[in-house]
Formats: sequence, structure tokens, C-alpha cells
Amino acid sequence: MVQSATTRTKKFKPFESSFLISCPVCKEKTFTVMQRLDRIPYFGEVLETFASCSNCKYKTSDVLPVEEKKAAALHKKAVSKESHLSLRLVKSKNATVEIPEIGLLIKPGSDSEAFITNIEGMLDRIIDTVGGFKAHHPDKKAEIEKTLKSLQQMKKGKKKFTLIIRDKSGQSAILDEGLKK
Ligand SMILES: [Zn+2]
Repeated sequence: MVQSATTRTKKFKPFESSFLISCPVCKEKTFTVMQRLDRIPYFGEVLETFASCSNCKYKTSDVLPVEEKKAAALHKKAVSKESHLSLRLVKSKNATVEIPEIGLLIKPGSDSEAFITNIEGMLDRIIDTVGGFKAHHPDKKAEIEKTLKSLQQMKKGKKKFTLIIRDKSGQSAILDEGLKK
């Protein structure tokens, strides 16, 4: 029997449900919550939630595993070629993200978001976060610019790096095809 190859460029499923509730911020009944179930290879089923308010523009998102996960505290991937940038990953609200080569460590905060993306998308989010530091740390501007330059090179596949995601809750993962279960 021939088994069909798994498609890694699987398109996201459309939202399965959507409903309106009172907004937690402005209290108007203009808060749309959309949910869908998705199955991620090597990770299992997740419930993705996106919510936004059409009145005050507040938005939030979350990704929750449906199946009970065993605690897997550390996921590490040596990103040594361009194709690695398209590997999918799940980052929960509790995850710490590290790129040791440039001394980058992003700890979870109260505004941490959960999301599913690929390594390239993760770099985009890191670039946003690091870029945001500039306003708060004008004294470290040169250092931050240097980090941003390295991140841009990584995104183009021109610089090797290691991506580490630590998550005590076991709700994060880097979905490497070679990952053994
Ligand atoms: Zn609102």
C-alpha cells in the first residue's frame, strides 16, 4: 500500500464558529469571538481562538491544546538552512523564547500572546518585540540595532542560529519533521 506524503503547506481551516459577546474592555456587545479546531502534526488538536472588538479595537488570541499533553519543557532547533524557516511552531502564553547566538531571551509577560506560526513568523514577532525596546531603552539603541540586523539576516536564511522555546506547561512545540514521539 502506498501512503500519500503529508502536505506540510496545509492551508488553515476556516473558522468553525463565531459569536458576539460583551467586550471585556469597553463592555459593548461588539466583541466577536471566532474559533476553529486544527490538527497539527506531532502536536495534536488545538483550539484556536481569535477575538476582536469592533468598537474599541481590543483584540486577543489564544491556542489551547485539546488533548492532554505530556510536559515537554524544552524545544530546540538548529536553524541551519533556509527551509527550516518554514517549520511550524506553537508558542503558548507561558513560553520563553531564546536565540543564544545573539543573547536574546524573551520571557513571558502579562501581554504574552499564544500563536501558531513558522520559524520565519516567529522571527517577525521577535523583530517587532525587539524594535519596541528602542523606545524604552534609548541608551541601548546601538545594541538593539545590531540585534535587529542579525534577526533580519536570520530571516533571510543568511545567518545560522538556534531557536529555543521553553515551556513548563508543555503547550509549546517546534514541529520538526524528524521529531520522534
Ligand atoms: Zn470593546
